[in-house]
Amino acid sequence: MRIRTLRRIAGIIQAVLIMGIPFIRIKSESALRFDIPTLRLHVFGYSIWMQEFFIVLIATIFLTLLIVLVTLIFGRVWCGWLCPQTVLVDFTLFVDKSKKKGFAYKLFAFGVTFVVSIIVAASLIWYFVSPYEFIPFMRRDLGPTTWGFWIVMTAIIFLNYALLRHKWCSTVCPYAKLQGVMFDQSTLIIELDPERAGECINCKRCENVCPTNINIREGLNAACINCAECLDACNEVMERQGKKGLIHYAFGTAGEGRILRQNFFIVGGFVLVFFIFFIHLTMARTGIDFTILPHNMEARFTKDGSIINAYVLSVKNMLNEPVDLRISVERFNETVSQSINEPVRIEAGGADKLPLFVRVKDTSGLKTARKIKITLSDKNKNINSTRETNFIVPDDV
Ligand code: SF4
Ligand code: SF4
Repeated sequence: MRIRTLRRIAGIIQAVLIMGIPFIRIKSESALRFDIPTLRLHVFGYSIWMQEFFIVLIATIFLTLLIVLVTLIFGRVWCGWLCPQTVLVDFTLFVDKSKKKGFAYKLFAFGVTFVVSIIVAASLIWYFVSPYEFIPFMRRDLGPTTWGFWIVMTAIIFLNYALLRHKWCSTVCPYAKLQGVMFDQSTLIIELDPERAGECINCKRCENVCPTNINIREGLNAACINCAECLDACNEVMERQGKKGLIHYAFGTAGEGRILRQNFFIVGGFVLVFFIFFIHLTMARTGIDFTILPHNMEARFTKDGSIINAYVLSVKNMLNEPVDLRISVERFNETVSQSINEPVRIEAGGADKLPLFVRVKDTSGLKTARKIKITLSDKNKNINSTRETNFIVPDDV
């Protein structure tokens, strides 16, 4: 099978995923969406709030290091196989063909590219405004910001696919510019097999099909996007001669590189550390944000000699479903009692401030203050969050 066919299949899967993910609903939210009004990131059923963005930061560092590792091993596999720029240029090849065609064909080519640009721009917005809101809103009021963003993005995407095309990769793309520092002597490249270079019949097919106008026979070029068009072309030419193609994938020049090398272990080690850190943060996440605030009422004695302390529990439910929180106060002197004994419901994404009075009848042994633990839990939602605070003994004990 030609590499081109495999790349087209990978491109279709990638396009379906990028366009389709916002339509997948998990717990009544898009599978992946950043909600700007509430500054919340929805990720496959989880909601990450602004105050938890260190999880996103660690995930971003992990993904960045993963990209460096993949590039170190497989070179520009992203550019050639999965980058939306390459995929959409491949799917709009009629724009290149239109240069040699008449007005009607040009109109068709640029018309279709414009429609594709509108859809691609909309699909970007779906990662911020759910398509289930966006599509009905198109008939009503989408809001000037969303309309403006859609129009500007459509214009940029259209100009990119109509004019820049693969020039984007060598002129604008920042990832392409960083390739040089991510490669080493063992990175996967596409090259003319040096041991068989003498068999080249100088047909120039590899040169003519290259979308970035590279002559692969002259060696590795920073503008090469690893699309493997030259490899397929040479295979077609040489198969007619009863031979294997002269251009191949190789780890390092002439295939002399090694996957397991020093750079692999250094970058791979960092990837592993950040992955473990990310998993730890995700597992340790409780789903509620819980702070103990001071209450206006100071610690005091009651007539029967008990001590009462008052607190305000500031609770925010960061889940996409309601929680029923049971409050428990660490017991000491075996006589502690609390004002809230029934579970308190906090709606999905909601917040509440709960006044809590804690009373200790047996004050023997209490001098000035001691630490106590207050726990909020909902066993059904796997929530168990504990905070420590002071239980104050008033001065005149
Ligand atoms: S040299 Fe080959 S792999 Fe590189 S961009 Fe040109 S056709 Fe694609
Ligand atoms: S397609 Fe193959 S045979 Fe033809 S010029 Fe390129 S490397 Fe040589």
